[in-house]
Amino acid sequence: MKIVLLGAPGAGKGTQAKLLIDKFSIPQISTGDILRKAVSEGTPLGKEAKSYMDKGELVPDSVVIGLVKERLGQDDCKKGYILDGFPRNTSQAETLDNVLSEINLPLDVALSVDVDFGILMKRLTGRRTCKGCNQMYNVHFTPPSKEGSCDKCGGELYQRDDDREETIKKRLDVYKAQTEPLIAYYQKKGILKSVEGVGEINEIFERICSLL
Ligand code: AMP
Repeated sequence: MKIVLLGAPGAGKGTQAKLLIDKFSIPQISTGDILRKAVSEGTPLGKEAKSYMDKGELVPDSVVIGLVKERLGQDDCKKGYILDGFPRNTSQAETLDNVLSEINLPLDVALSVDVDFGILMKRLTGRRTCKGCNQMYNVHFTPPSKEGSCDKCGGELYQRDDDREETIKKRLDVYKAQTEPLIAYYQKKGILKSVEGVGEINEIFERICSLL
């Protein structure tokens, strides 16, 4: 299964991707995760990416496309992949089409996870991640039993720099202007499927599985 996950920040792409990897035994390629890792390791790539990420802007295409190309070329992608957070604009989508036809691994489906913007704001501002085990919480919807500390490992919970309110507004604006047009792009190609991304995580996953 070769999937692109579409959806605004906070739509739950990452959460659903984790369930899909288990079901289909294929790797998740999350450009956001790759970039955050580079930032935390302080690599030259991370240093370049950080200034854009902190402002809620997209990292330049030239940087991101190189990362994805390299990752898609690895052996574990031959049986399928889930692209999460890439492509983010039409130019990335066109480049992706070219790369995938070169390596003969064309997309099966572009899956759009749709969530109302008011709900997205609450999901993003409330999001907290454990420093120890990366377990995610939401202070509005799924709070930990003890504020600021992980139920699983007791680690400290933190808020992503780009989950602060001003940055979130910017990220949602960028999504509307640059990423949302991809829904029409994949619809035109006849591979778009849409799912309502509101409800229990497992319920949404069931919807996705029946669509796929
Ligand atoms: P995400 O975790 O997917 O919401 O990504 C977090 C941030 O990483 C975004 O706000 C961008 O600054 C950057 N980023 C992730 N994926 C891309 C991409 N495909 N193109 C450009 N920037 C990206």
